[in-house]
Amino acid sequence: MKIAGIDIGGTMIKYGLVSLDGEISDGGEIPTEAEKGIENLFQKISDIIEMYPKKELLGIAVSGTGQIDGKIGKVIGGNDIIPGWIGTDLVKRLEDKFSLPAVLENDVNCAALGEKWLGAGKGKKDFICVTIGTGIGGGIIINDDILRGDTCVAGEFGHIQIIKNGLECMCGKKGCYERYASATALVRIVKEKTGFKLNGKEIFTRERAGEPIFKEIVEEWIDYFTDGLSTITYIFNPSLIIIGGGITKQGDYLLNRVNKNLASKIGVNYKKNLSVKFAELGNNAGMLGAVYLLLKRIGKL
Ligand SMILES: [Zn+2]
Repeated sequence: MKIAGIDIGGTMIKYGLVSLDGEISDGGEIPTEAEKGIENLFQKISDIIEMYPKKELLGIAVSGTGQIDGKIGKVIGGNDIIPGWIGTDLVKRLEDKFSLPAVLENDVNCAALGEKWLGAGKGKKDFICVTIGTGIGGGIIINDDILRGDTCVAGEFGHIQIIKNGLECMCGKKGCYERYASATALVRIVKEKTGFKLNGKEIFTRERAGEPIFKEIVEEWIDYFTDGLSTITYIFNPSLIIIGGGITKQGDYLLNRVNKNLASKIGVNYKKNLSVKFAELGNNAGMLGAVYLLLKRIGKL
């Protein structure tokens, strides 16, 4: 028996048939076409599920963008990039249509659960996940479970204020962590200081080549990044922080500098057992985490 795993992102939907030990088969990717709205999206999700033989399916596991009440599988907030997405009772709609158990959980929470099941957090009861991309997301694993918070929005680290009266954020506040330390922020700082419009990979290539201005910018960005990580460390006193996102492709070259910089900002008892690692599951983390959640919920794990 298998699970239909679906990861809904702002630009692409990733899907696959996932076995009980996390092997993915019959997978693929299609454009989300977010602007076409919820009904178009629901049709795409349905088409994916219908591709798989129903008698083989144990359930449907969905990782989704935005603020999600993962207990009931309903979208409760976030950016309105998919018209009609906020307010959608996706789990109820899927269960009604397919008569299979379903889950929906926020993508960063799913990534944390995926890493816990099969990745960098394997065997750990407690750890923190920080995902760096367009923004900065967070997932908090405590006692083998996601810490959702009272209204299921715990761990939105990207909106911790790190600069008083800083840059405006789309959340309505100023000086949010993600405005300075996300991948988007790095791209913006490079544009402002050099005039070049480069992606993260290109920026690190030039930095590795030793161009002084890129050295300076990346140092500054790492400093912002560890400002947030130190706050997170002081709140949770974790033994493990897992960092996810495209920047992890930079490997130890970047990780060692993040570790060194963070260590200079936290007290001795905080760094004693702290390990900062990069995520291991890449783009599959969200889908696998949603499947893990479903398997736990139906008593298969
Ligand atoms: Zn914000």
